[in-house]
Amino acid sequence: MGGFFGVVSKVNCREDLYYGTDYHSHLGVMRGGLAVRNGKGFTRSIHDIRTTQFRSKFEGEIDSFVGNAGIGVISDFEDQPLIVASHLGTFAIVTVGRVINLQELAQELFTKSRVQFSEMSQEGVNPTELVAMLIGMRDSFVEGIAYAQEKIQGSCSMLVLTDKGTIYAARDRFGRTPVVLGCKDGAVAVTMESCSLPNLGYELTRDMGPGEIVSLTPDGVEQCRAPGEEMAICGFMWVYFGYPSSIYEGRNVEAVRYRCGEELAKHDVGIKTDIVGGVPDSGVGHALGYARATGIPYARPFVKYTPTWPRSYIPAAKTDRKLVARMKLIPITELIHGKSIIFCDDSIVRGTQLKAQAGRLYEGGAREVHMRIACPPILYGCRFLNFSRSSSEMDLFTRKIIWEIDGAAADVQSYVDPDGEKNQTMVERIQKRIGLTSLKYQRVNDLCRAIGLPPEKVCTYCWTGMDISCKYGCQGCAAKSCAGRQ
Ligand code: SF4
Repeated sequence: MGGFFGVVSKVNCREDLYYGTDYHSHLGVMRGGLAVRNGKGFTRSIHDIRTTQFRSKFEGEIDSFVGNAGIGVISDFEDQPLIVASHLGTFAIVTVGRVINLQELAQELFTKSRVQFSEMSQEGVNPTELVAMLIGMRDSFVEGIAYAQEKIQGSCSMLVLTDKGTIYAARDRFGRTPVVLGCKDGAVAVTMESCSLPNLGYELTRDMGPGEIVSLTPDGVEQCRAPGEEMAICGFMWVYFGYPSSIYEGRNVEAVRYRCGEELAKHDVGIKTDIVGGVPDSGVGHALGYARATGIPYARPFVKYTPTWPRSYIPAAKTDRKLVARMKLIPITELIHGKSIIFCDDSIVRGTQLKAQAGRLYEGGAREVHMRIACPPILYGCRFLNFSRSSSEMDLFTRKIIWEIDGAAADVQSYVDPDGEKNQTMVERIQKRIGLTSLKYQRVNDLCRAIGLPPEKVCTYCWTGMDISCKYGCQGCAAKSCAGRQ
């Protein structure tokens, strides 16, 4: 997915930029990048962070980053920040999101404007470079950013650092990703993870609204474009992506996870097991909420070896992923043997890790394993945030099961309703395939209640196939009821 941090200060911003960006390391695994602007121009560096953490990669050169304004990014795909020369002046840019119509927009720029792209990789045009080119099509940064967001299908939040030392921050037009403002004496910051603010002395000022554009200078924040009314913030930010101490739209991640656990517990009245446990890291908050609601003791049947295994390290090769998943978690047999266990996790994507974890609980002598999942079954691949590198929805566990039940022509929408026969058949098969005593998923309305936002303000596309942006021209929403398909 990725995350960014920007700061404008009356003094050297180096330290805030370095640590502030580092606090986004759980959001991406590929690249880390920093750019600062000073009187002599821009200083920039990008590193591969697949095997070494962001701070280790930058600590040897961070002293060379001298300047009062800087932007940083943890990127899951492309190299960033880019430094671009344009008629608006030279600027640095970072983006987070997913440009669905990347190829169409690139083609349009080739044919209409004879634009060239220089940041080509195996994956084609660098999306951040494309956004920079779109910005340059208009007469000011604000107009250019607004134009880019209008053209992009998918999502795109961004930071633009100009050669005057101003940062323009823009949140995606449907607010899929959070963007938060903070301030302290003599400095203002913009971040995707508010957990980056307190230890650097910043107070959280406010969330930016969907589509809002602001400019940041050492004197403060100025609104350049007011937010839109439509919002579809990613529900997964609270369930999985987000750091426990972060706050989006006034809702703290860990508190939402507790409430997710409580909502799950409402459907298990009278259940009796020996312990409740969660898959580290994000399953723990859900498990604590479940334990609190049922009165069943919370325990840790698995602990994570935190000294060397960060959450975000996910190797590309399947065999390596399996090995890493196994090495990260160490079972505590004393808490497992002979026990009946409620085990909470944030989600089931491919199902391979969960199957392995359930197997290890049984190997350790567990009597019963009841799995509770903090979100509904994932039926659709994320179209907005590069949720995973997978290019096929058929990698989803649900889709494999649906294919077994109904074949290639299956109507996936008929599996959305948790009270429907199809959904129940699918869940039963997943339960058997993983070898669980029981399996229950969260319902969409319960999840939105746990988040504390109305369902129409939360993106639930990967669970329901419904997307509010269809109102603005159908972008492939899967729902049959969508007016854009009729
Ligand atoms: S589709 Fe799912 S992962 Fe993607 S933005 Fe929506 S809720 Fe988040």
